[in-house]
Amino acid sequence: MTDHSGILRDLVKGDWVEPATGKTYDVGVKDIIINTSLDGAEAELVAKQHKGKSISIVSDPFTHDALGHRVYKALAADGQDVTEYVWQKPVCSEEGVKHLREQTRNCEARIAVGSGTVNDTVKYASFLDERDYSVFATSPMNAFTTGTASVSFDGFKKSISCRGARGVFFDLSTIANCPPPLISAAFADVICRTTAQVDWLMSHILFDTPYTDTPYTLLAYDEPDMVANASKMLSGDLDALGMLTRISAIMGLGTTFTETTHSGSMAEHMISHYIDMFAGDKHPRSSHGEQVGVASITMSLMQNQVLRDANPPAMRPTHIDEKEMLARFGPKLAENMMTETRKKALDQHKADQLNKRFDSEWDDIRNKLQAAMLPYETMNNAMQQAGCQRTATELNLDTEFYREAVTGARYIRDRFSMLDIVDDSIGLSSFIKSMPV
Ligand SMILES: [Zn+2]
Repeated sequence: MTDHSGILRDLVKGDWVEPATGKTYDVGVKDIIINTSLDGAEAELVAKQHKGKSISIVSDPFTHDALGHRVYKALAADGQDVTEYVWQKPVCSEEGVKHLREQTRNCEARIAVGSGTVNDTVKYASFLDERDYSVFATSPMNAFTTGTASVSFDGFKKSISCRGARGVFFDLSTIANCPPPLISAAFADVICRTTAQVDWLMSHILFDTPYTDTPYTLLAYDEPDMVANASKMLSGDLDALGMLTRISAIMGLGTTFTETTHSGSMAEHMISHYIDMFAGDKHPRSSHGEQVGVASITMSLMQNQVLRDANPPAMRPTHIDEKEMLARFGPKLAENMMTETRKKALDQHKADQLNKRFDSEWDDIRNKLQAAMLPYETMNNAMQQAGCQRTATELNLDTEFYREAVTGARYIRDRFSMLDIVDDSIGLSSFIKSMPV
């Protein structure tokens, strides 16, 4: 195992030099610390980012006990002007954000402790109030370093661009005690790097859409070790958790390099969104990472199958069945989805052009994509070892509905992915029939 912890340190300071281009980057976040323990360092870390400010520490009952109260005591003992708000039932909705702003209106800076919901609400509330915030993470999720918050408006989740944290602090000894499903879900939400990269790079190769290697260059430092040590994630091995946390933190910063979420969010995320949008009563209350994990297995199988085939797919024009779309999604959503799909749809001319390119360049194209692709078997084994769910059945999701999600996900966004290749060649419904779900 190689120690790559210096990479993040350099990145945050603006000193990381991209090997291929010689470029440096300003990632916005001022400090990212990942340590075996931060016990005793809390006050100094906060003072460095929020010197002289009155601080409100926000946690939920679980994260308060796990870490929040310890942070409060450390700041109080240091003589900092600090109050503590333990939010009994946090929700990241319009009302939740309003509630939190009222409860913490007198502070000058907020410290979020823990969970995704607390972090996202504090992030968005602080953005609206134009105040700074930092976060002590209690799980290895990638949401802590992003500049976006997932807020629900009238029951619909929206990803809102706001300002990221000043400091993001990971105490691995605390993270090792978080519920195991959170660790497995975080693992799934970063190993999808491979399916997202294959999709995004393929779109670039075929249609010259924007693409950059930078997030992947950074992720490549730790990914092989993380995959090789997947079985240690749930046993409290702090080195293994450190790798997962570093990769998550870098994945969260991905948007900083690309100004889009494409680098970590392609077809596997669209399938997960479809589940959230349409499962209704059938939704098993699985988390984002859990759903992305299952969808990544599906996409990996699909990508591996298409790209291992020496014969290229035979593309046909995209068929958008307006009647079926209206019946399936209702007028408003169907309109949105048809607009998104038309942006990437193949007409006869485009399909002919693709087939011509495939005839002469297929080996070259699939070699390039295979270089970004984890073998399906490697990915499946690693996810099993990290305790991830890998099928809709394991998610407790109706398998018929999951098949529907895989066939419908391509309509959600204009992002071109392997779903489009398969649907416009052999057809997704026949493909999904042969797949274990
Ligand atoms: Zn994700």
